[in-house]
Amino acid sequence: MLDYHTHLWPHGGPPSIDATVEALAGYCEQAAANGVTEIAITEHLYRFRGPAEALAGHWDDDPHPQLRDQLRDYWWSETGADLDRFVEVVLAAKSAGLPVLLGMEVDHYAGRMDRVADLLRGYPFDVLLGSVHWIGAWGFDILGDPVVDAEWDNRAIEAVWDGYTRGLEELAASRVCDVLAHPDLCKITGRRPAVPDEWYDRMAEAAAASGMAAEVSSAGIRKPVGEAYPAPPLLTRFRRRGVPVTTASDAHDRSTVADHRPELRALLDSAGYTSIAGYRSRQRYDVAL
Ligand SMILES: [Zn+2]
Ligand SMILES: [Zn+2]
Repeated sequence: MLDYHTHLWPHGGPPSIDATVEALAGYCEQAAANGVTEIAITEHLYRFRGPAEALAGHWDDDPHPQLRDQLRDYWWSETGADLDRFVEVVLAAKSAGLPVLLGMEVDHYAGRMDRVADLLRGYPFDVLLGSVHWIGAWGFDILGDPVVDAEWDNRAIEAVWDGYTRGLEELAASRVCDVLAHPDLCKITGRRPAVPDEWYDRMAEAAAASGMAAEVSSAGIRKPVGEAYPAPPLLTRFRRRGVPVTTASDAHDRSTVADHRPELRALLDSAGYTSIAGYRSRQRYDVAL
């Protein structure tokens, strides 16, 4: 199996440790111990200084001042790494023979995906993950922040899923990325619409129409919802529509690289997948399970 979603830096402050080939070697060791043969390093785009400056203010159109302030403060507290240095280190690890890919977790920036594509151009990425992390200025998965948490009580769950799905549809249609990361992240708190089928249908349709793969991620197991992304009914829809899948941990430190591999395998088996997608230079290929 593969782990196509790993981060070097935890959240809750600026990127604190320099990226090094040694750190990547540690990630590869942890992956191998869990039966995973290749990992992609997919740091968030906004954690790099240049892109953060170029995309800052994407929250300005949101009418909710508290949410705008929260996201602005979060944004500037989380950034500061150097993108060229990051790329250099991952490429050095590849040259040294480590089974790592150069990736990036790219967020959805409503109405700004052309600008995002410009920021990514010229780098030899192997795989780009696309994620929806904010609905307007609401970073809905920054759980534990009082402003973010309060908003979960202010909105109807159907409106949350609708806003999230609209972002995912726009992201997919932009075709800037290769893989939809944690496709049903909107379930993170465990709250869901009584009948989520219409949103599942839209998510699966967006993925199929875009040609993107979807990620099967163990990250949800570590969140309040307590289950992998995507939920089985959504994974089944992906399978029926021929959407390829990757596997991922979304680790933010070495200890969770390639974790819960058996659970992800069981999910894939029960949805009928016999292969997963691998990438090189943003070209997809099949890997038999
Ligand atoms: Zn993410
Ligand atoms: Zn991530």
